[in-house]
Amino acid sequence: MSLPRLVSASANPHKVAEIASILAGLVELSPRPADAPDVVEDAGTLEGNARLKATAICRATGLAAVSDDTGLFVDAMHGEPGVDTAYYAGPNATYAENRAKLLHMLQGVDDRRARFRTVVMVVHPDGSELVVEGVCEGTIATEERGERGFGFDPLFIPDGGGGRTFSEMSETEKNSMSHRGRAFAALVQALTKG
Ligand code: IMP
Repeated sequence: MSLPRLVSASANPHKVAEIASILAGLVELSPRPADAPDVVEDAGTLEGNARLKATAICRATGLAAVSDDTGLFVDAMHGEPGVDTAYYAGPNATYAENRAKLLHMLQGVDDRRARFRTVVMVVHPDGSELVVEGVCEGTIATEERGERGFGFDPLFIPDGGGGRTFSEMSETEKNSMSHRGRAFAALVQALTKG
């Protein structure tokens, strides 16, 4: 049986590697075409941004496209940075600058509960959509720990991970409990059922 084929809407090499490893053997994932148009992610919600990205790649390629959009929602900050997580410390902020801002904002704060949410969306050439979500609950560490991963990984301690940050886990272990891992597992289930 041939595998379902999807074109990735993501150009981020960290994410594409993670997604490819999650979908290996289940979905044939094609890379985002280099000349695909850039998308302004201004929908205001994870689902809306995911739709913008997948629709643009679907239109550019004529093939089913898969996108994902993730946010970090911190309880003590009323759910911020949320949909704006990538730009938390400014429009061109680095991962390190975003982490430094988060640590600063949570200085002296006891309630460090937070969650990552990922929305994954597939848009087909006929306009039909498939939307799934993955959530990973956890807490924000008081200092960075670990070397692996990207983004907020050195600060995010997922529930059920023995107190380690994502950066202290192998990629396989992170994927087994992460927001993105769960969202793509839900995608595989939705694509392969029936
Ligand atoms: P995106 O929608 O996947 O680009 O995610 C938005 C932002 O959330 C990224 O720029 C990262 O700062 C953060 N982020 C997303 N996924 C992860 C993750 O798995 N670990 C740590 N940070 C993440």
